[in-house]
Amino acid sequence: MDTITFEGRVAIVTGGGGGIGRAHALELARRGCAVVVNDLGGDVAGRGGSASMAERVVDEITAAGGKAIASHDSVADPAAAAGIADTAADRFGRIDILINNAGNLRNKALESLTDDDWQALLATHLTGSFNMARAVWPHMKARKYGRLVFTASSSGLFGTALQTGYAAAKAGIIGLMNVAAIEGEAHGIHANAVMPNADSRMARQTMADWGPEKQEQGAALMLDAIGNSMDPEFNTPLALFLASESCQSTHAIYSQCLGRVARVFVGVAQGWQAQRQAPPTLEDIAAHWEEICDTSRGFTTPTSSSEELALVLSQDAARQ
Ligand code: NAD
Repeated sequence: MDTITFEGRVAIVTGGGGGIGRAHALELARRGCAVVVNDLGGDVAGRGGSASMAERVVDEITAAGGKAIASHDSVADPAAAAGIADTAADRFGRIDILINNAGNLRNKALESLTDDDWQALLATHLTGSFNMARAVWPHMKARKYGRLVFTASSSGLFGTALQTGYAAAKAGIIGLMNVAAIEGEAHGIHANAVMPNADSRMARQTMADWGPEKQEQGAALMLDAIGNSMDPEFNTPLALFLASESCQSTHAIYSQCLGRVARVFVGVAQGWQAQRQAPPTLEDIAAHWEEICDTSRGFTTPTSSSEELALVLSQDAARQ
């Protein structure tokens, strides 16, 4: 039985015309949410565009009795992003949820990634997520309620070969989410990031770009061990829980990987404390390298820059 409802809520799902975004949009609508399905409708690299991808998902939603409208604007364009938010507010009267999910992919070795590739990746993932967050912000602030779900990636947090631009943009999204969460706190706006995994056209492109050997290994993994857990729909429960009123999480990152859902965090090891009257020497660093790198003595997870300063000072007391 569904106990979490989105009745009366309004959501924007970017990149909602296919893959993971489509699954998010369909489930939001099934649970009563009015949805703006945004999708550029281009290829996996983000080239070209058409209204059809967003419209097909809107047709699916309305055929099932739900409420949705389509947008095929690019989130990379600040004016278009503002237009998407205005359309949502004009048509449905409010904006409660933004799922920043739109993304493109250009897999190349670092030295081969062109300026155009780099700019296109940052523009869609990072600037697009910022454009949309800024556009919905005044609507959410006015009602003292909002749920922002940013789509990051294990590539950005951990790294994946051939994804310099993609990973940099995805890591940047974490910085964007961190500050949105801190600034949103006073306005009832929560922000979290997800790291999804799915057998989408994007994932298939990555496998193809890795070459036949890795592709075969990947295909074997798909068949043997994972059941249906690479279906895009496996990512939707986590993203939609974060988008729901009942979820109080903010300022956090969560991974969905083959059905395993887990918090991801940045930890700071205990480290080595230099005396504070003069900078340490290179030799001091070398002499304390093991202590600096040692994670076995536990770690802290600061929730802001100032909290890291406070934590370091508080460790003084613990040392004495
Ligand atoms: P996908 O290619 O099916 O979905 C991305 C969608 O974004 C596409 O429908 C595309 O048309 C749309 N889009 C691209 N540029 C746009 C723009 N400028 N404006 C509006 N829409 C635009 O791939 P997916 O796997 O469903 O990816 C969804 C999100 O999840 C992406 O942000 C992706 O980076 C992220 N992600 C996916 C995986 C995975 O394993 N599939 C892993 C980590 C992160």
